[in-house]
Amino acid sequence: MRLITLLNRVVNYKRFVIKTARIVETGGEEPEIEFGIAARKNSKPVCSGCGRDGATCDHQAERRFQFVPLWGMAVYFTYAMRRVDCSRCGVKVERVPWADGKSPLCYSFKLYLAGWAKTLSWKEVSYRFGVNWYQVFEAVKFVVTWGLAHRDMSGVEAIGIDEIHQGKGQKYLTVVYQLCGPVRRLLYVGRGRKSETLEGFFEQMGSDWCGRLKHICTDMWKAYLKAIKRYAPGAVHILDRFHVMKLLGDAVDKIRRKEAKELNEHGLDLLKGLKYAFLKRPENLTESQEEALHGVMNRRLRSVRAYLWKEKFQLFWEYTSPYYARRYLRRWCKGAMHSRLPEIKKFVKTVRKHEPLILNWFRAKKAFSSGAVEGLNRKVNLAGKKILRHQKPGSVRNRAVSYPGPLARTTNHPQISMKRLII
Ligand SMILES: [Zn+2]
Repeated sequence: MRLITLLNRVVNYKRFVIKTARIVETGGEEPEIEFGIAARKNSKPVCSGCGRDGATCDHQAERRFQFVPLWGMAVYFTYAMRRVDCSRCGVKVERVPWADGKSPLCYSFKLYLAGWAKTLSWKEVSYRFGVNWYQVFEAVKFVVTWGLAHRDMSGVEAIGIDEIHQGKGQKYLTVVYQLCGPVRRLLYVGRGRKSETLEGFFEQMGSDWCGRLKHICTDMWKAYLKAIKRYAPGAVHILDRFHVMKLLGDAVDKIRRKEAKELNEHGLDLLKGLKYAFLKRPENLTESQEEALHGVMNRRLRSVRAYLWKEKFQLFWEYTSPYYARRYLRRWCKGAMHSRLPEIKKFVKTVRKHEPLILNWFRAKKAFSSGAVEGLNRKVNLAGKKILRHQKPGSVRNRAVSYPGPLARTTNHPQISMKRLII
C-alpha cells in the first residue's frame, strides 16, 4: 500500500490533495516521512481573517507541519501557503484545515501530544516525540481551550467548591467541581482562596447560570461563604459531611500529636504511629491498627476521649430528618463543651456558628458530598504543580490555570478520529 493511500484513509482535506510522499534521510537518526500537499486545481484560498474565499495573491515559502508519527518516524506535511486578496480583510495568509496560522504542529498531532500528556510528564512527551516543552504546553492548551469552548454547562445544578494547598507556605488553589449528573467534572481552577478568586468563576459563568444553581457544597472558609452569598443567594448552601468530618479529624489529630509529644518527654511512645488509627472509621481499620487502638483505649488519655467524641459525632450523619439531626447535634455540642478538650470545644463553636448550613445537607437529602471528588483534587494538585513550576509568578494570578489530566479526562475534547477532527 502506498503512503499516500494510507494517509488518505485518515485525513480528508477537500480543497487540497496529497501530491507526494517521500522518506527523507536525516543523517544517522530515524528517517522522516514527508508529504507534499498542494491546493486542488481551481480551488480558491480561504481568508484566515473572515473565512471567505478570495483570489490568490501570491505564494509564501514552503513550510513544514508536523503530523502524527508513523512507525517511529516523524511525519511532516510540506505546503506553500497562499496569500488571499480578501475584499474585507485585505491581503491575508490563507486558512488551512490541518493547522492554525503560525503553528508548526498539525491539529491531529496536538491532539496526539495532549493525549500522551495525560499519562506522561510534559517533559517526557516532548522528549519522546521530538518537540519542545512549549509545544507540548501549546498542545494541551489547544485541547483545554477547545474543551472549555464546547462544554455544556446547562445541566449543572450542583457544584462543590474546595481549596487545595499548593507547595510550601500559604499557597492555595480554588477548585470548582460539578457534583450532579453522571460525571464529576472539574470546572474551574483559580489561584488563591480569596473571595475574588471564586467570584472570578461566578463572573465567568454569568448571572443567569449562577441563578440556576440549586446546591453548593463547600467547607467553612469565610471568603467562599461571602462570594456564594453574593452571587448565588438562591442556591441551598451545604457544608457537607466530608468537610465537617475533616475539621473534626484535624482537631483529634492535634490533640493526639500534642499528647504524644508530652508522653514522649516522659519516655513513653504509646501514641506513636497511631495517626490514622485515630482518624479512620472503625470499619476501615487494618488489623494492626485495630489492635494498636485497642491497646490504648482503656488508658486515661485525652486522645482517646477526643476519639470517642468523634465517633459519637458520626451518628449525627445517620439521621434522615433535619429536625432529629438538629436535636442530636445540639445534644452532642452541649456534651462536647464539657469535654475539657479545647480543640473539640473550638470545633463545637464552629459547628454552632454554621448549624443551618450543616443541616442543609439533610434538607438536600444527603445527595451531595465533596468526598467524591477528592481523587480529582489530588490530580489537580499534581497538574497545578507542573504548570506553576514553568510559569512566571503572577502570570496566572486570578486567572484560570490551564490543566492537563483532570480536565482532559473528565470533559469533552476534540474528536480523536483524524478524519473528522472537529475544530
Ligand atoms: Zn477576509
